[in-house]
Amino acid sequence: MSLLKSPITALHGVGAVRAEAYRRLGICEAGDLMWHFPRSYENRGDVKTLVEATVGEKQALVLTVATKPTLARIRRGFTILKFRAFDATGTCEMVYYNQDFLKNAFSVGEEYRFYGKLEQKAGRFGMSSAAWEPTRAARPLAPLFPVYPSVDGLSQKQIKSGVHEVLSAAESELSDYLPDEIRLKNRLPALLTALRGIHMPESYADLIAAKRRLVYDELFLFALALRLSAKRERKTGAPVFDKNDLSPFLALLPYRLTGAQSRAIGDILADMATNTPMNRILVGDVGSGKTVCAAAALYVAVKNGYQAALMVPTEILARQHAADLAPLLERLGIRVTLLLGALTEKQKRLARETVAAGETDVVIGTQALISEGVEFASLGLVVIDEQHRFGVNQRAWLTEKGKHVHTLVMSATPIPRTLALTVYGGLDISRIDEMPPGRQKVDTFFVGESYRERLEAFIRKQVTEGGSVYIVCPAVEERDEEEGNLLLSEIGELVLPEQKTPLKSAVEYTKELSERLPELRISFVHGKMKSADKDKVMRAFAAGEIDVLVSTTVIEVGVNVPNASLMIVENADRFGLSQLHQLRGRVGRGTRKSYCVLVSDTKGENATKRLKTMCATNDGYEIAETDLKLRGPGDFLRPMANMGIRQSGGTDFRIADLCEDGDMLLGAFSDAEKFLSEQTLADHPVLSEKVQSMLAENETKIN
Ligand code: ADP
Ligand code: MG
Repeated sequence: MSLLKSPITALHGVGAVRAEAYRRLGICEAGDLMWHFPRSYENRGDVKTLVEATVGEKQALVLTVATKPTLARIRRGFTILKFRAFDATGTCEMVYYNQDFLKNAFSVGEEYRFYGKLEQKAGRFGMSSAAWEPTRAARPLAPLFPVYPSVDGLSQKQIKSGVHEVLSAAESELSDYLPDEIRLKNRLPALLTALRGIHMPESYADLIAAKRRLVYDELFLFALALRLSAKRERKTGAPVFDKNDLSPFLALLPYRLTGAQSRAIGDILADMATNTPMNRILVGDVGSGKTVCAAAALYVAVKNGYQAALMVPTEILARQHAADLAPLLERLGIRVTLLLGALTEKQKRLARETVAAGETDVVIGTQALISEGVEFASLGLVVIDEQHRFGVNQRAWLTEKGKHVHTLVMSATPIPRTLALTVYGGLDISRIDEMPPGRQKVDTFFVGESYRERLEAFIRKQVTEGGSVYIVCPAVEERDEEEGNLLLSEIGELVLPEQKTPLKSAVEYTKELSERLPELRISFVHGKMKSADKDKVMRAFAAGEIDVLVSTTVIEVGVNVPNASLMIVENADRFGLSQLHQLRGRVGRGTRKSYCVLVSDTKGENATKRLKTMCATNDGYEIAETDLKLRGPGDFLRPMANMGIRQSGGTDFRIADLCEDGDMLLGAFSDAEKFLSEQTLADHPVLSEKVQSMLAENETKIN
């Protein structure tokens, strides 16, 4: 009888109660526990002496017990156990609360490894409730001590013992599903070695190798699943829009379409002229003129008797689109309704009724609003702008409601051709690779901290001359509660967390700047603000009521403030090229001569190259190609992490991170491609079973 395939209750000490706790972790069969990876590792192998150790931080110490533990009853139900322990450099008082059974656990003269937060009071070292292990164990002590995600009713110790039991069984029961030639080509350890390495690493190198293997597996399986699901039949049942004469529409435009715009519109109209739902992404640099392509699609849908929706990530963008499009569409006899969270309940109800009764043709709004219980009389087309801003939940709505509608997604992230297939798995792609004529170039400079004063003078000058200024700071990262541990998600990264430079936070920065430039109107927005508050500030900025807007990257979204003439990016080395390019696209949108200043004291070679590239070119595709060379595909895969993967047959990852592990993703994709072209999955039953279960899991998540 296989232990791995038995219910979790087959493990020692697991009854109904613990099984229920395991179930809450998604673990039902004993074998599932192998895939329950630690979240972090206590760095217990980094042993310090008392004088070397840092007070206030978690620390591993090897100490010899000096005194017999004494147990004192402080009050009813509360005891305290104390003893002293020493190393060559000093003595430390060890304290445990309510753990009477430890009284006989420590022997005077014996050595233990302790791990806990070191404190110092009145010159004396102390440590309370430290984890402890005798150093004279049969095996050398593990340097990295795993910490598992858990739930109430399940201790770390219990999980660990379960994992050990399962891994022992795996020795005889588990077969490696990854074909040998692929494993060896990628220099990956065998499956069992990797599982041991992730659960009980004997060294940091062990852990890195284990993680590489397990990340690779997820990505390879993902690639196989994606290929297999893409082969499934495409749906039909979408409305056919065959009345697609654009001349009345084109006649009203104040400009001629660029060649690239005409081609994109051609793709879109061809898609919508068949009963297979359009599933297309329109990729074009900031300012390349995607909106008019969307408008052409909206026009055609309505002329064929259907309603259409334009969904955007923020209310301010919804307003902007409505202001741009409504006059044009209304002249063509198309009724436009704007649906905003800021409307009163009554107004919203009225808008919904209008939509449901078919008394309007085009609805513009944030996706949340449109998806919230709006019934369309006859929805035929959905356009989604700035797709990378949308999360997974909002997409679920599309797969459900949008079964028989045409979908057009727009993105301003130029993606190198080599990557596009991977990133947009199931979508057809149109690109706008040509800018409308007469665009001004944004002059870009890369400066260090020593320019601070000159920079402030420049800000003042821009504002005095009537321009306005964006200042972007990187988002402040939140640290995990397992302070001091090595996070599994960070294993293998080049930069250790403590080496990261201190970041400017938008809020503090605003305060500082307001003190130095008191005559300017300075305000901030950041990602954690309520969206209504964000919109309010953005609107004030757009209206010229704010001179300087300090923000995290929330302004990346395609907001149009033609008056903005200066973009300053702080800690610019922290941003990817594509992101910098997006940010720069916020200025130079009007007639005002515009500038971008990248502030950084970086010595990093790659970072310096990135910033110099920004100064040298304004071309989004050139920047994207350079970014791919310098940073790997991570930045481009971020949109995929937010969107498009489940839809096209993917799944959530346990250990892989599409952004961090981008290089590996590309390798896994090409391996999968090659594998499927040379062999059939049926010849690899274990692998096939793995892929099928991945597909099945995904299906249940969608439905
Ligand atoms: P994005 O692709 O970033 O969404 P927009 O659609 O907002 O770009 O277009 C940016 C600006 O360019 C708008 O003011 C729009 O009117 C203008 N525009 C679009 N197409 C053309 C064109 N073919 N010729 C001239 N101006 C254009
Ligand atoms: Mg746009």
